[in-house]
Amino acid sequence: MSTIAFDIPDDIRALCDGLTGFLKAEVIARHDRHHELLGNSRRTYGEDGCYVPEVIELIREVRMAASKAGYYNMCVPEDLGGSGFGLLAYYVAWEHAFRLCGPHNWLTVFAISHWAFGPSRVLERVTPQAREEILGDMLAGRTSMCFGLSEPGAGSDAAALQSRAVADGDGWRISGRKIWTTNSPIADYCMVFAQTDPERAAARKGGISAFLVPTGSPGFEIESIIRMHGCVGGNEAQVVLEDVRVEPHQLVGDLHEGFRTAVYGVSLGRIYNSARSVGLARWSLDLALDYTGDRQAFGRPIAEYQGVTFPLAESAMQVHAAHLMGLNAAMLLDRGEPAIKELSMAKAFSVEVCARAIDRAIQTHGAMGFTNELGLTEAYNVVRSVNVADGTNEILRRTIVHRLLGGDREL
Ligand SMILES: Cc1cc2nc3c(=O)[nH]c(=O)nc-3n(C[C@H](O)[C@H](O)[C@H](O)COP(=O)(O)OP(=O)(O)OC[C@H]3O[C@@H](n4cnc5c(N)ncnc54)[C@H](O)[C@@H]3O)c2cc1C
Repeated sequence: MSTIAFDIPDDIRALCDGLTGFLKAEVIARHDRHHELLGNSRRTYGEDGCYVPEVIELIREVRMAASKAGYYNMCVPEDLGGSGFGLLAYYVAWEHAFRLCGPHNWLTVFAISHWAFGPSRVLERVTPQAREEILGDMLAGRTSMCFGLSEPGAGSDAAALQSRAVADGDGWRISGRKIWTTNSPIADYCMVFAQTDPERAAARKGGISAFLVPTGSPGFEIESIIRMHGCVGGNEAQVVLEDVRVEPHQLVGDLHEGFRTAVYGVSLGRIYNSARSVGLARWSLDLALDYTGDRQAFGRPIAEYQGVTFPLAESAMQVHAAHLMGLNAAMLLDRGEPAIKELSMAKAFSVEVCARAIDRAIQTHGAMGFTNELGLTEAYNVVRSVNVADGTNEILRRTIVHRLLGGDREL
């Protein structure tokens, strides 16, 4: 039975079937085996707020197992050493993974290479020497990276970043400060965006370059782990760069044109987060629907009360629409269309719909819904932060309106 008329190619469907087996064996089973370590944040994180070494090792194990099984690099371009699946596969696989794993089997995030943490098309323009030096280990899941774009004074307006890369012989020295950099506490490399021509950067005409910097470089420091709402630790951090030397082969793409790489990365993030939202929304809806059959009140299953079930029908309508929007945006991008408006609409809508679906699922469960045991509050936390990451919902609306006013009126 299928509610989606879009033609999902057989190879993508087969990939998802295989992914299910992999996630059960390598992610869900690992969470079961290490329930206390991975499920109790007081054990997951150390005093400094960073993952404890055993958790970092489990993350690495999942990346490496996924690489071996062929899922980690499935959407990495073939010329970088991946399987070359497109963005439809990326969307479908992530949606599937989050629906299956929910928020509590969170190692799932490391089963498919996330554009900011591992190999992706974002690395397509690294130099041949950098490919030679870094790609082998990164494709194998032994190493990972992070994406250093946002700064304390440059979030939505990322092009206002102030980090500087000053020419030094044939290379550069980078100084600056990055914030919210996910995975930086455990990453081996950071893609750092810095001004290389301040005048052009101030005029918003290029002047920003991208560099792939080893996090072990002298002058590269994780200043502090950021503890997000409700968590004793985290995987986002503030990063300080002080006179960090970079060699010519560490430049990514053309000098002064690095912002294009940033924009491309963020658009991959929008697909990922659209899929993550729909997957988590479906996970929460499944949980709520099952509970209405189990839970009795006033002598009947609560499934018999329309006050309980109509909100779930509302979630189903909205999540279905969000799902179709995400699939559509991914397909347009695979066809080579820019789909700027469509992707912005899909991400903003999916995230908002997901937050409401999870809230309804919490309500369906009564007090149980608010316990840590079910993971619904955890899912809500995730999706609430996604409302900000990779473009806030206001910035996405701004983009949609720019496109509409510019004549892109097809809906
Ligand atoms: C969980 C998480 C992970 C992240 N990971 C990374 C990462 O790995 N790497 C990285 O570089 N960054 C990362 N970020 C940062 C993220 O990209 C920024 O938070 C985001 O771009 C918003 O910037 P800001 O938080 O500074 O908000 P601001 O830009 O300060 O915005 C504040 C408010 O003003 C609104 N606003 C701003 N301008 C406008 C406008 N023109 N019209 C209408 N409203 C406007 C915003 O929507 C928001 O509500 C992460 C963020 C989160 C939450």
